[in-house]
Amino acid sequence: MGIGAGRTPFAEQVESLLSAGGPLPIVAAGDPVLRQGAEPFDGQLEPALLARFVETLRLTMRAAPGVGLAAVQVGVALRIAVIEDPAPVPDEVREARGRVPQPFRVLVNPVYEPVGDARAAFFEGCLSVPGWQAVVSRHAAVRLTGADEHGRALDEEFRGWPARIVQHETDHLDGTLYLDSAEPRSLSSNRAMTERWGQPTPDRAAEALGFSLD
Ligand code: ZN
Repeated sequence: MGIGAGRTPFAEQVESLLSAGGPLPIVAAGDPVLRQGAEPFDGQLEPALLARFVETLRLTMRAAPGVGLAAVQVGVALRIAVIEDPAPVPDEVREARGRVPQPFRVLVNPVYEPVGDARAAFFEGCLSVPGWQAVVSRHAAVRLTGADEHGRALDEEFRGWPARIVQHETDHLDGTLYLDSAEPRSLSSNRAMTERWGQPTPDRAAEALGFSLD
């Protein structure tokens, strides 16, 4: 079948992905789709298909489980991402990392800029780099602009862990992985994270592995 009936190649691709039902396979590092940058969303999916796609991104994120998922991570190079973090963490972790609950949100064409000079360095991971985590220094607060899934303008400040999530997901849409700016010496397997580096901050890991938190 050709594109026909005014359907865009993106609509064909998404229909095909959704036809299998259930959570979508997540693309792992090494696939060029994670490196090429995504196209601004401008109606390539009609509203009903966009709604089904977003719902499947949510399902996929929850099944993983993860706190954010960019469309490129399911192979769709459109500037769309979802975020959601129930933040089931102890109080001391919540305080140190600013990991407050983040309700489900859809980010369309997101762009961020720093708010202030403060930075925060913590371990993070990525569903496209399974099995590993590393410390990334990021803006402690950002202003995020763009739109939601209904086309309503988004202009909001994020801080704490939600600020980290929106930077990570927006970076995906620019073809950037967290590893690009991670502290290489902090790279830790999930097993090392569980056994050694569960503290609220990465200070002990920095000392033991020999990296800086500046
Ligand atoms: Zn990621």
